[in-house]
Amino acid sequence: MKCVQVVVPRPFDKFFDYFYDDSLGSIEIGHFVRVPFGSGSAIGIVVSKNEPSLDASKIKSIESVFHDFPKLKNSYLNFIKWISSYTMAPIGEVVRAALPPKDVFLNKKTRKKFVFETPLLHDELKLSDQQKASSQALSQEKNFSVNILDGVTGSGKTEVYFDFIDQLIKREKACQILVLLPEIALSSQWLERFKNRFGVAPGVWHSHVGAAEKRETWKAVIQGNVNVVVGARSSLFLPFNNLKAIIVDEEHEHSFKQEDGGLLYHARDMAVVRAREENIPIVLASATPSVESYTNYKEGKYTLLHLPSRHKEAQLPDVKIINLEEEKLASQTWISTPLKAALKLNIEAGDQSLLFLNRRGYAPLILCRTCGYRFECPSCSAWLVAHSHKNKMSLQCHHCGHKGWLPEACPSCEEEDSFAACGPGVERLAEEVSSLFPDARLGFMTSDHIKTTDDLGVLIEKIEAREIDIIIGTQMVAKGHHFPHLTLVGVVDADLGLMGGDFRAGEKTYQMLHQVAGRAGREEKSGEVYIQTHQANHPVMQALKNWDRDAFMESERDIRRQGLLPPFGRMAALILSSTNEGFLDQYCHALSRAVPREDGLKVLGPAPAPMRLLRQHHRRRFLVMGPREKLLQPFLRNWIAKIGCPSRIKMKIDIDPYGFM
Ligand code: ADP
Ligand code: ZN
Repeated sequence: MKCVQVVVPRPFDKFFDYFYDDSLGSIEIGHFVRVPFGSGSAIGIVVSKNEPSLDASKIKSIESVFHDFPKLKNSYLNFIKWISSYTMAPIGEVVRAALPPKDVFLNKKTRKKFVFETPLLHDELKLSDQQKASSQALSQEKNFSVNILDGVTGSGKTEVYFDFIDQLIKREKACQILVLLPEIALSSQWLERFKNRFGVAPGVWHSHVGAAEKRETWKAVIQGNVNVVVGARSSLFLPFNNLKAIIVDEEHEHSFKQEDGGLLYHARDMAVVRAREENIPIVLASATPSVESYTNYKEGKYTLLHLPSRHKEAQLPDVKIINLEEEKLASQTWISTPLKAALKLNIEAGDQSLLFLNRRGYAPLILCRTCGYRFECPSCSAWLVAHSHKNKMSLQCHHCGHKGWLPEACPSCEEEDSFAACGPGVERLAEEVSSLFPDARLGFMTSDHIKTTDDLGVLIEKIEAREIDIIIGTQMVAKGHHFPHLTLVGVVDADLGLMGGDFRAGEKTYQMLHQVAGRAGREEKSGEVYIQTHQANHPVMQALKNWDRDAFMESERDIRRQGLLPPFGRMAALILSSTNEGFLDQYCHALSRAVPREDGLKVLGPAPAPMRLLRQHHRRRFLVMGPREKLLQPFLRNWIAKIGCPSRIKMKIDIDPYGFM
């Protein structure tokens, strides 16, 4: 009997021994196998062929081998092992993210609908010299290299990487290319463009793709039957056997960081790791590169390809800062006089406008005017957000999904008709817009209005057909859309993102507002942007006003360097939660006493998390900080091993945290 080690998609950080004999045919490292596991069976991956580490009587035998599927390459296995070790997630948890829908292995037929064709190579668009130079530079990279494709929105980055893809397919024929996009940018618009350019659709992979399509795409990927896959984070785990390039569009997007579940990873960072393991080039495209990527460029680790201007005559929009300290708003209104005037002119000119307010619903808080009672989620430390319906109001928790109707009377003092809404959400803003411009046709781009890519497609069509005058949107509007008739952007409250204790708040706000501003005037007509703020002199507002990204980057990098904050230092968060608060505090205390001494490392906490209660779980946080030269993982392993983690406590380790809730 021969023995192999198999990793199964269960939350264990180890490989399991299995025997096999030759009746199953050859079994090699990288093969998919079915093995008995627990009381049932599991599909796993063979990772090594070593002598058993257990008593032979305890070792079971492999049930079957899936010879229909090519083996995974060593580079792939190294990639998932690396992720497990870096994120500290059990290897089985990584494999769970990597394995296809279960029935892939049962269903042999490929359905007609999902046949992938080789992209036809159109060459319709004549690239500018700068675009051509960038795509040529990319084509010359045959080994691992990280290339930032830097250019304002509308400068033609997408065209450049399309051209790069085109050249790769011409040169390498059967090669594979992965394009990572933030989920919401995976719109019909991007896919349309791809189809127009290449004559076929790419493979598509994200959480809204149905199981049948996923199954066929996964098979096509491993069997080498699809050239280009476009996907969200998890497409990074697809089993490409002939990957020649990775492109991460909007690389600065924070949604690339997976914050929930058993595997917390940053898809852009892991894409760089995958490219390194495969020894291929990776492209990071953005108008506002992350401080992390920009710093790697400054230090000579990444190259930067710059597209300086917008394509054709399109100019960057003119940005005006509306200082709300001077330009006072009337009570219960959110649109300043200058913005109002600009909207009026724009509507009269027959052009489209966009109002950006990054707050869903009607109002973020409802309180009772008589007794001061505020509606709070019963399971989370968060106010309930009011959402308007035909003629009622619902109250929703945006963290746990709790929902109810707003009662007639105050639950505390029983006074009727005593509620006041505090502050605006997009729905309340729409009320003001409708009263100012009763004939304007509104379109909503928020996650409450747009739940599927089809919804988004419908809205985009309406916008393109000029059936919408004013788009009202949350952060969803910031992403890659291209609306030729949009010439005015109003940012209703630029200060929203600057609140809170996140050291990236400035960077995030800058990136988001830059993207939003970039929606204006993408074609011949020039655009205008109005930014309403109480902090007119804030570096973020000044950088937006002057379109001076590099100055902002340098001031941001100075702050980070001085505070030893990422990317100049390392950071990891430990989030502990439990339904039993007393027990949680006891445990955190013990953990705190067990902190190993280590030079240069600092452990902050335990502190109640900003979301002190979430889904009825009490939450505490530790933050570990250290110099860049020193990985935090060995320290964390050592620390946690000292006292372990009881089953009543849930422990989440977040390496390189992006969210601080
Ligand atoms: P980005 O990805 O930087 O936001 P895009 O690639 O989406 O920019 O380009 C913006 C617009 O300009 C698109 O409509 C695109 O088709 C057009 N465009 C870009 N480059 C060219 C070119 N060389 N010739 C014609 N149109 C172009
Ligand atoms: Zn809640």
